[in-house]
Amino acid sequence: MQKANQNADKKEKKLKGNQKLALERIYRLFELAAENEKYAKRYVALAKRIGEKTRTSIPRELKTQHCTKCNSLKVVKTTKTPFLIIKCEECKHTKKYPLKNKEKN
Ligand SMILES: [Zn+2]
Repeated sequence: MQKANQNADKKEKKLKGNQKLALERIYRLFELAAENEKYAKRYVALAKRIGEKTRTSIPRELKTQHCTKCNSLKVVKTTKTPFLIIKCEECKHTKKYPLKNKEKN
């Protein structure tokens, strides 16, 4: 647990000022997307654009919450070691992410 926190600190130091702000905005937009179903896709699209413009990568925890193709938040997560599979309920798009060591157990 402590080790993970140290890693997070290291990552944060590398970020530039505008990237820190961008990350805050990305988190906020995903929060809003979860609350507001009607504009969810729009909020996710905005978050992605902020990431592109400021060259900030979207955190993994958020990346695995939405469909990368249609930005829908309605996804089903299944674990198939060694992958985490995200399947969209709207467009049936699937994406595989390699599992991290701590998630394998
Ligand atoms: Zn989709």
